[in-house]
Amino acid sequence: MTLAPRILVADDDQALTRTLSWILKENGYEVVTVTDGEHLLERLRADAYDLLLLDIMMPGADGLQLLERVKEDPRIRDVPVLMISSMPPEEATVRALGLGAADFISKPFRVRELLARVKAHLRVGLELNQAKAEARNRTEMVDILQEVTASLKPEEIYHILVRRVARGLKISKCSLIFSTPGEETATVVASYENPMLRNLRIDLKRYPEIRRALDTRQTVLVADVATDPLYAEARSEWGQEGRLVPTRSAIAIPFVMKDQRAGVFFLRTTEEDTPLKSSDMMFAEQVIRAASQALEKAYDLESAVLGREQMKTLAETDPLTETYNRRALAEKLVQEIGRANRYGTQLGCLMIDLDDFKQVNDVHGHLAGDSVLRQLGQIFRREQRTVDIIARYGGEEFVVLLPETGVAGASIFAERILKKVSGHDFGEGDKPIHVTISVGVACYPDERVQDGETLLKLADQNLYQAKLDGRNRYRD
Ligand code: GH3
Ligand code: MG
Ligand code: MG
Repeated sequence: MTLAPRILVADDDQALTRTLSWILKENGYEVVTVTDGEHLLERLRADAYDLLLLDIMMPGADGLQLLERVKEDPRIRDVPVLMISSMPPEEATVRALGLGAADFISKPFRVRELLARVKAHLRVGLELNQAKAEARNRTEMVDILQEVTASLKPEEIYHILVRRVARGLKISKCSLIFSTPGEETATVVASYENPMLRNLRIDLKRYPEIRRALDTRQTVLVADVATDPLYAEARSEWGQEGRLVPTRSAIAIPFVMKDQRAGVFFLRTTEEDTPLKSSDMMFAEQVIRAASQALEKAYDLESAVLGREQMKTLAETDPLTETYNRRALAEKLVQEIGRANRYGTQLGCLMIDLDDFKQVNDVHGHLAGDSVLRQLGQIFRREQRTVDIIARYGGEEFVVLLPETGVAGASIFAERILKKVSGHDFGEGDKPIHVTISVGVACYPDERVQDGETLLKLADQNLYQAKLDGRNRYRD
């Protein structure tokens, strides 16, 4: 998509500006005119122009002085300037060119000559701007991609993208939006203007350019929201609601991910921003094209990590009780003893065994027995602190590790679960099942304990004592 080149004509001769303006518009250019010096600088700073036609003799300001001021201002000095004058003094020509004017043309001018020069300077200016934009884009792209690829999380990448593009283009609004084709709504996943925003649903009716970009898979540029026909419906809605919409121009760049998810990179400017140009569009397109590859990699990685975590959880968990299995317990025991040694803290340990469980199986059946074990797992998980570790040690035996807990604390925990278990009905419907547990308590450090294995052994001895003493109790 290319826009008509924009030309600013600065001349005090109203008749001439009208003619000039007409000729240029007829030849496909967009033209803005000013008739005095001060407005000229204002205009140039406020909008992007591809060429300036400047009269040497202007009321209130000397054209050459104005040229000097244009060339001093880094924001506008790259606009090629074609000087016009009614006098053909050699000296003015030389000075104008010396001050950085691109060319000099004298009144009365021939239309064809003027058009040829305008065209030539526009081409040179465009090439220069493109070269500059490309150089800037290349270095920024390298930077952005380095930051993007260093990040492994899609969420982070979204935010890096909107931040870098917004800053690179000096615009205040830049968002990343995902949608499924054919849907009426879309989700904003990141937005520069609102870094805290996460997954905001938007109605695509209010964003015609996003919808068009999604539908056509083509970049949509709306240079002026106030006049673009695409916004006719939205404008009448804003009118009815009495809303003032600060947006001036908007670019929606669509992209499609491998998994068929479609997205739009959405850039907007307000009156305070520099208006968006087609080179900005190219820059943003390049960023999003390169970044979508990084995003895909991040997605793959995320699902791989997720898969690995799921596998690990699966390998560590006892499927019936959903507590740790014996293998995981062995690992945790080593870790927790190490931690207790490092920080000089205590580690409580409970060995739990169901009382007369054989009988439960015999009376109610093995399935009811399994259900008892499952519910027991739930009770223990409900009672635990997040740091506690609960594992199924054997058939109907459990071990609980209580970090930073001595005998007193472990005993309190034992009392609590004894009560919970004995007070719970493990049966279904009108067939109540009541069970009790016995608990052996041990603690690290203890002169009888050297490592995890001996800690479990001590707890097991105490469990045996609890059984001997009549069950449904704990011993330490
Ligand atoms: P106590 O511990 O009070 O001395 O008596 P107990 O009847 O519980 O005796 P013991 O600990 O020796 O027996 C354990 C029983 O638990 C044996 C087995 O039938 C039962 N059991 C072990 N694992 C499972 C299981 O996964 N499901 C069911 N339903 N029962 C199990
Ligand atoms: Mg047992
Ligand atoms: Mg038992």
